[in-house]
Amino acid sequence: MAVVPAPPTLDVLMTALTARAAAGLLVAIAIALAARRAGSLSGSGALAAVVVGTAAVVAGWGWGALLVLYFVTASAVSHLGAADKERRMSGIVAKGGARDVVQVLANGGVFALCALGTRCEWVDQHVIAAAAAGALAAAAADTWATELGVLFGGTPRAVPGLHPVPPGTSGAVSMVGTAGMIAGALGIAVAARALSLTEAMGVVAIAGCTGAVADTLVGAVLQERRWCDACNLATERRIHDCGAPTRRAGGVTVLDNDAVNLLATLVGGATALLLAFAL
Ligand SMILES: [Zn+2]
Repeated sequence: MAVVPAPPTLDVLMTALTARAAAGLLVAIAIALAARRAGSLSGSGALAAVVVGTAAVVAGWGWGALLVLYFVTASAVSHLGAADKERRMSGIVAKGGARDVVQVLANGGVFALCALGTRCEWVDQHVIAAAAAGALAAAAADTWATELGVLFGGTPRAVPGLHPVPPGTSGAVSMVGTAGMIAGALGIAVAARALSLTEAMGVVAIAGCTGAVADTLVGAVLQERRWCDACNLATERRIHDCGAPTRRAGGVTVLDNDAVNLLATLVGGATALLLAFAL
């Protein structure tokens, strides 16, 4: 009687997946704790990072590695010349320093969901993998553009009129910021290809830049703008650096910086999905 090797049963697959999820959870906790200590994440941000990190590892170790690469480089460009940037932005940006739960999910939520989608048999692997990498590429492109643009970009210009505005203003662009955007998107695209997560390197890079451009346009036109009467300064913060509450000076109330970041990753993921599907 010939013995036919049995295909792996659901039990065997589940055991392997559970073991990887447990290992991923431990790695994610270790990295989140280190990031919390380094001041890159707040308490709630660290908790959210554990969830996103574990989801990435459940999708595969390569996705976990891509997320770590994004996080380490994004934290590095954020820390680069931090004191200089804080001074140059003079309290304009909504949140500085440690990322909280909303910021982590706005940047990593779409990526985590799409990465998990690569585990679903009924989803086209090629398309969903490109979407996951595209969403993360958009987050990287936006972070690199903002951080490098504020530090080295001189006086940025607001779209669409291109009039000069203070560094850190949402929707403002500079040459250095644009170069940073392309570098961030390309970096994730090259890494995703090197980790054999997707073949669609060009699609991921284009999707990342498209997400960051959407972030800039929505930031310029629709994002909520606030004003501190005590200092006569524009800001994104609800409570200004000086301690005074700020008032809405334009834009859509619900569209704060985090909502716009979420939109950028959605556009990045959707663009990659459509291009990967079409090409
Ligand atoms: Zn003030």
